[in-house]
Amino acid sequence: MNDRRSVPLSALQHFAFCPRQCALIHNEQSWEENWLTTQGQLLHHRVDTAEPETRNGIRYERSISVSSERLGIFGKLDLIEINMSSGKYKPVEYKRGKAKIDNWDRIQLCAQALCLEEMLSISITEGAIWYWQTRQRETVSISSELRHETTNVIERVSILLHDSTIPKAKYTTKCKACSLYSLCNPKLSNRDTSANYFISLFSGDFQD
Ligand code: SF4
Repeated sequence: MNDRRSVPLSALQHFAFCPRQCALIHNEQSWEENWLTTQGQLLHHRVDTAEPETRNGIRYERSISVSSERLGIFGKLDLIEINMSSGKYKPVEYKRGKAKIDNWDRIQLCAQALCLEEMLSISITEGAIWYWQTRQRETVSISSELRHETTNVIERVSILLHDSTIPKAKYTTKCKACSLYSLCNPKLSNRDTSANYFISLFSGDFQD
């Protein structure tokens, strides 16, 4: 993966949610604030600015930069919990909404665990996701299946970022929760409305 762009951890979650959303954000730097994204930023600010502390035998370290050279990924962890007696590390991710059936939040968490394993030469068996809306904490097993799914998504995102392609819009129920809905317009057209599309109109490469 050395000749490819490094993949931000946030892109994995965006890709698992919708490859087009991932490409619009990371290839075209498209972003639109709505109340959902603002709530998410406030939540992360609150988590990131808290001081490190130790309580009941658990050390809490916040806003940690992580990366994996082997996988070509980098990003920031919201929180690491370190059990002082067992020495076990547990990454914890904070999310605005609620737990989902799909794995897109768990993939981001698993990628964080893979970074920590490589950086610290340790093994991580589980992490957790804390959901603000439901005030619930989900324990996530860093299973071989989740690791496989995560490395597969990393590879696909790496290709997407390297090729700078923008997948076409396809309307699904997820679109209702998408912060890029008005930019993407998935119901009006499934045509590519990205900058690359408009450039292709004038370059003679246009294909409908
Ligand atoms: S509106 Fe739908 S198709 Fe468009 S980027 Fe968002 S989730 Fe993807």
